[in-house]
Amino acid sequence: MIKLVIFDADKTVWDHYNISEFEAPLKLVDENVLQDSLGRTLKLFPNVRKTLEKLKERGVKIGMATWNFPEKTKAVLETLGLDKYFDVVISRDFPFKFIMISEIIKRLREQGMSVKPEEILFVDDRRAHFGNVWLYLGNINCLEMWKDVNDHMELISKL
Ligand SMILES: [Mg+2]
Repeated sequence: MIKLVIFDADKTVWDHYNISEFEAPLKLVDENVLQDSLGRTLKLFPNVRKTLEKLKERGVKIGMATWNFPEKTKAVLETLGLDKYFDVVISRDFPFKFIMISEIIKRLREQGMSVKPEEILFVDDRRAHFGNVWLYLGNINCLEMWKDVNDHMELISKL
């Protein structure tokens, strides 16, 4: 049974490939579209909000593991009103997802929740990360966004 779903951010939950480029102030264009001070835009992918709602309803913990400057990730999540869904956000200026995932596991353990690798689902648009995740963290379920699943709501059926 999956107790924790961890999302990548860029190109997985939204269409922009690198939110670390975004410059404050950020503003909402509509509920799911955000623009930075230089006019760069980001759009949340369809059904992301609905999927996060469903995961919360089911009591599944939600994490984010993203290669971005932490303050940029925080600003984007808050502007979109998504921060309330994530139990742990680990945003680092390096690409190693297995390190970020182990930080998420550690953070949850500090909160009194222990989670086994097979109870974790990691979703990322870059399959290249999965090898190290399996090598260092064990049998974590990994899904490649847009290949193994084509809509976030499909994740609910993988629980
Ligand atoms: Mg990505």
